[in-house]
Amino acid sequence: MTLHRYKEIQCPDCSAKDEVIVLDTINAQVSPEAKTALLEGKTNLFACPRCRTAFFLDRPLLYHDMQIGYMAWYFPFALVQSGKILDWIDPDGQAKGLERNPECDYAASIHYVFDMDELVRYVRFRDVLAEETTRAEG
Ligand SMILES: [Zn+2]
Repeated sequence: MTLHRYKEIQCPDCSAKDEVIVLDTINAQVSPEAKTALLEGKTNLFACPRCRTAFFLDRPLLYHDMQIGYMAWYFPFALVQSGKILDWIDPDGQAKGLERNPECDYAASIHYVFDMDELVRYVRFRDVLAEETTRAEG
């Protein structure tokens, strides 16, 4: 399930306010429209309606593709610099709080990224690999 809510954000440059759809997780199969928005660079993006200042919200985003079988997790690098990343990730690199699920064993090997553009690139990369695998098998 893709959890989302609206959040009112105030532009730091001109103080105009706008509502942003805030996502914490994207499941590619459950919410393909959320995947499309991610690939278009629109997820967790504040774009000021008045002065066009734009930035990604400072919050983690977990991407889950059940069909290909992987997860990728974006974290703002400030969480690493402050040490708050340890609220999400154990010192051994494993994500906290994700249940060990035999049908989702890749949850133990999540790919972490620290840039929203890199998350988009990684999703595209995995899509290309999956398409090639499907083509080779077909
Ligand atoms: Zn503005």
